[in-house]
Amino acid sequence: MDKHTILKQYFGYSSFRQGQEELTDALLAGRDVLGIMPTGAGKSLCYQVPALMFRGVTIVVSPLVSLMKDQVNALVQQGVSAAYLNRSLTDAQYRKALQYAGSGRYKIIYVAPERLGTAGFQAMCSRINISMVAVDESHCVSQWGQDFRPSYLNIGSFIEQLGCRPVVGAFTATATEEVKRDIIHMLGLRRPTVVTTGFDRPNLYFGVLRPKDKDEKLLELLRERDQRSGIIYCSTRKGVEEVCDLLNSRGIAATRYHAGLEDAERVRNQEDFVYDRKQVMVATNAFGMGIDKSNVSFVIHYNMPKNLESYYQEAGRAGRDGSEADCILLYSKRDVQTCRYFIESTESNPDLSPEQNAAFRQKEEERLKHMIFYCTTSDCLRGYMLRYFGDAYKDSCGKCSNCLTDYETVDVTVEAQKILSCIIKTGQLYGAGVVADVLRGVLSDKIRAAKLDKQSTFGIMKEARAIEIKALMEKLEEQEYIISVGTGRPILRVTEMSYPVLRGNARVKIKQTRKMKRRAEKTSVGAEQKELFGILKQLCVEFADKRGVPAFVIFSDATLADMCRKMPLTEEAFLSVSGVVPIKLERYGDAFIRAIRGYVNGGKEQT
Ligand code: ADP
Ligand code: MG
Repeated sequence: MDKHTILKQYFGYSSFRQGQEELTDALLAGRDVLGIMPTGAGKSLCYQVPALMFRGVTIVVSPLVSLMKDQVNALVQQGVSAAYLNRSLTDAQYRKALQYAGSGRYKIIYVAPERLGTAGFQAMCSRINISMVAVDESHCVSQWGQDFRPSYLNIGSFIEQLGCRPVVGAFTATATEEVKRDIIHMLGLRRPTVVTTGFDRPNLYFGVLRPKDKDEKLLELLRERDQRSGIIYCSTRKGVEEVCDLLNSRGIAATRYHAGLEDAERVRNQEDFVYDRKQVMVATNAFGMGIDKSNVSFVIHYNMPKNLESYYQEAGRAGRDGSEADCILLYSKRDVQTCRYFIESTESNPDLSPEQNAAFRQKEEERLKHMIFYCTTSDCLRGYMLRYFGDAYKDSCGKCSNCLTDYETVDVTVEAQKILSCIIKTGQLYGAGVVADVLRGVLSDKIRAAKLDKQSTFGIMKEARAIEIKALMEKLEEQEYIISVGTGRPILRVTEMSYPVLRGNARVKIKQTRKMKRRAEKTSVGAEQKELFGILKQLCVEFADKRGVPAFVIFSDATLADMCRKMPLTEEAFLSVSGVVPIKLERYGDAFIRAIRGYVNGGKEQT
């Protein structure tokens, strides 16, 4: 079979996505590869397609037990003989799996890196012909990355000691130069073909909101996303508890995940979410790596994360199956203080010199600035993010919250002059609250005690509301005319940029929202097909329960959406649905076609 037949036959897709074919071809030609593609781009297929075409066995090294299980389940459902070897098996199961593996029963074997060096595993390897070793999440080999795993250091020597060197493929979503170099070096890749696809994920919507009341906003967003599965990230464990309680008290099926929970509860909650028993997962950033749930339809950040790298990774867990999905961040200025606090209270790394530690902290500060800028810019969000990651993205995406907002530019030079001069005249000693009070001429005890009412700027903005002045101060801070110093109750200082404004040599302009444009209706499932989608989803859940796998392993939401669009009534039409393979037609075709026919006829009877 050629690669296109394999693609259709075992995966149900009629075309490769960007980067996939190039990587597949290189591996098939016997060349090592390094594939750098964002989450959800489809890295697995790059080694799974060649694996089915090689004569021998493919070993896939993967860091996470849960991920291996889901991938193997999915492959088996598609008619591929695959198995995994990791600590989730009992000793007896493990021995049996090893024995089967040694007899050449499996085409693809997933293995945890810790197993590579064990005698049993190596003995098995010496009995079979290994065509390829694929290293998933290969950035785990690098100490520079965020997810370094010491056991990944075994992989290089494992490959070296194999009798006949197989072709090696490494895959990751992390693209920094250090990590790239480490992967090539530590895994001993030989003149690899390196393919980096762009970081854009066109099916994701990006939005930033600044709600007055985050809880109310969150509930509203969830009401709009009724029946959909999603993740809500909070920056602290306490936040997770509070938000999860809030949702449960409002009848939303939510569960929680953070490092403070017992292992057993974490596993249970994660499964409840993956198996669609609970719709919403409220979690800290401890949740996510290795969660391969393909039908996450939104990721909402209740707090701003500390850098764009974390944000894009977490948000990127939405829409992995290619369906339209939303990434929304609820921003407030307090989040900035929390992040600063996190950075300042990070313990020094004892392996680094004081200078290196200082440099590290400086770098974290820099990253935070870019994150804040993402939250406060009025330019295209997708463009800002992609340029940050090094893509040359020049356009506006036309679908993020900024592109959909009609802004007007307002000249606020006079107001800015008043605020800046008030900060200077009061000695750059006070926070936003006191400065606003002075400007509005509020005679509080504090102001009287410090004699601020004798200042020339006292009461020069009597007509403005405190909230307006503070909003303006935030804009001035975003544009770096002022900075807040210190945590807890930060004080305001002016920057060099302020003096030209005060002298009348520079003007200050801000963008204000005029109105929001309507978002285009989602194309994935139209309103009229929602009912059919629900029916088909329910069928998936029933089959999945019988087989003890998550529902998306039967058919992904993207496949169901395509089914709703095509409404196949024959076997041939059913096979043309994206993601449907022959073996699934055989197993589930009847039931699904019957359900679709029932739906179509039911509709006719009503009219
Ligand atoms: P990654 O490992 O890069 O995050 P995955 O390998 O998990 O991504 O793939 C993400 C999703 O994309 C899966 O649901 C997969 O079935 C789907 N997919 C992969 N390749 C294609 C393709 N060529 N056409 C349609 N869907 C695809
Ligand atoms: Mg993957």
